[in-house]
Amino acid sequence: MDPRLITIDQTEDRKTSQGKKVKPDQLPDHKPRLGISQCLLGDTVRYDGGHKRDAFLTDVLAPFVDWVPVCPEVEAGLGTPREAMHLAGDPDSPQLLTIRTHIDHTITLQAFSQRRVRELQESDLDGYIFKKNSPSCGVHRVKVYTEKGQPSKQGTGIFSSAFQKAFPLLPVEEEGRLSDAPIRENFIERIFCYRRWKTLFEQSRISRGAIVQFHTRHKYLLLTHSRSHYHGLGQLVAKAGGYPPGELASRYGALFMEALKIKATVRKHVNVLQHLAGHLKNQLSAIERAELQETIQDYHRHFTPLTVPLTLIKHYVRILAIPYLVDQVYLNPHPKELMLRNHV
Ligand code: SF4
Repeated sequence: MDPRLITIDQTEDRKTSQGKKVKPDQLPDHKPRLGISQCLLGDTVRYDGGHKRDAFLTDVLAPFVDWVPVCPEVEAGLGTPREAMHLAGDPDSPQLLTIRTHIDHTITLQAFSQRRVRELQESDLDGYIFKKNSPSCGVHRVKVYTEKGQPSKQGTGIFSSAFQKAFPLLPVEEEGRLSDAPIRENFIERIFCYRRWKTLFEQSRISRGAIVQFHTRHKYLLLTHSRSHYHGLGQLVAKAGGYPPGELASRYGALFMEALKIKATVRKHVNVLQHLAGHLKNQLSAIERAELQETIQDYHRHFTPLTVPLTLIKHYVRILAIPYLVDQVYLNPHPKELMLRNHV
């Protein structure tokens, strides 16, 4: 039977010519666990008794992750409702003050943060989404006031600051920034990658073969971020036998997560798409090759989103069951229901 006559659904249970089972996607076995500022889930924990429910998080992302909600101010015992607070003083070491009565809650929040961050070490987190602008939860450009009441946007919330020091590799974002499509895509890609990396190194006896396979599966995804990181990781994998498993895990993880933070550009995606098209070219007709090139060029010129050439490539990869490509994470880095890679 001509393999190209097999439908996409039929490929679910097929094997490649090397006997390897074709998987429908490359998602981890269980959902990523995300810490989250509790008010973003719609819980009424804000200083004014309200919430800041975020529809994307609660309606779109929620089915694909497990939440670990934290409200630092409520859990530290400040109650709801409570007087509004802001950061003041030195942006590198700010105080947390109530705005009207100037009560200093810095030590309370710092002590709470240290304790809660230690507890979260046991929560198996794969990322964290913080509420923007909050003196406890904000990550970027939180206002810090001078004695004269002048604000500068140079601060980080007390809790989010302690959290990021304790979890330097963990993907962290603010809900406000997640409305930017490339930032959203990058964050979600990183939490699924972090989950896969942890799953790999959680195995009691990790083999060098498993690490090589992990690295190989992430090749094209890494190349859309940083070629030099991909090569650095390859060198690390080549010397895998020289490291104790724990050290290898932390070295690989640090470089892997650093790579994924580097912005994926249209140019880098086009480069990867052309590599993938190269793998397919001998099995496509002249018309199919031309059509594929046209979709890649349309994406390059910002006429269509990435999902257009990728859908065509994924179609060919699945019906042709090309062994090296079927497992590439780049083709399915996150659930399709999230509708990512859909912007121009
Ligand atoms: S921003 Fe943080 S501290 Fe403020 S209500 Fe939300 S979760 Fe609580």
